[in-house]
Amino acid sequence: MEGKPRSKFVRVKCDDCENEQIVFDHASTTVRCNVCGRSLVIARGGKSEIKTQIIEFLD
Ligand SMILES: [Zn+2]
Repeated sequence: MEGKPRSKFVRVKCDDCENEQIVFDHASTTVRCNVCGRSLVIARGGKSEIKTQIIEFLD
């Protein structure tokens, strides 16, 4: 499925507090850590910029 824009959910771990949460990689707004409020995903008008550790991609 390479080369085709496709929305995915991504499991990430917060760099600051190690909270794990599932985020959307085409988020329309900034996604923050549910525990400490750190920005985890920055909206870029398409594929989002993930600013923390990625654990796995989910389909
Ligand atoms: Zn956190």
